[in-house]
Amino acid sequence: MTELRPHHVVCLAAFIGRGYSPEFIEAFQRLQALYLNPETRVELVRGPDTACRACPNLSDGRCALDDHAVAILDERVRVALSLAQTEYTTGELHRRLAVYLADHDLAELCGECRWRDEVDCAAVIDQRLNELGPAWVDHRPRPRFGR
Ligand code: SF4
Repeated sequence: MTELRPHHVVCLAAFIGRGYSPEFIEAFQRLQALYLNPETRVELVRGPDTACRACPNLSDGRCALDDHAVAILDERVRVALSLAQTEYTTGELHRRLAVYLADHDLAELCGECRWRDEVDCAAVIDQRLNELGPAWVDHRPRPRFGR
């Protein structure tokens, strides 16, 4: 089964074809196609996932970019979306991400991610989630007034 570490729930919604190597980009594109199908079943894991295994930064089971920072990012997303190490449909992950983003800025999740300077992830995610259609829109919290 496809494995996802928590922060990739966000990255897969924002991915626009940039990455760490041609092989990684190709693998992430395949993974994103699965992710955008709301009926795909995935397993939430700690540490390296299906995407990491295609990444040139994975070394001895750790992220050579900054394993500690990545672990902190995973934990932030895990808590924010109330994720457990279990199976989910990606539709459920979309719903949780949408519910979170209805009340928070994406920057609260992503912190100092290096991709922030290159990609307007918030706009891409908003567009992607909207494209997922009624199944997602039904879950989207209604705009609140007086905020
Ligand atoms: S190994 Fe590190 S840089 Fe590569 S996908 Fe995993 S977390 Fe991201």
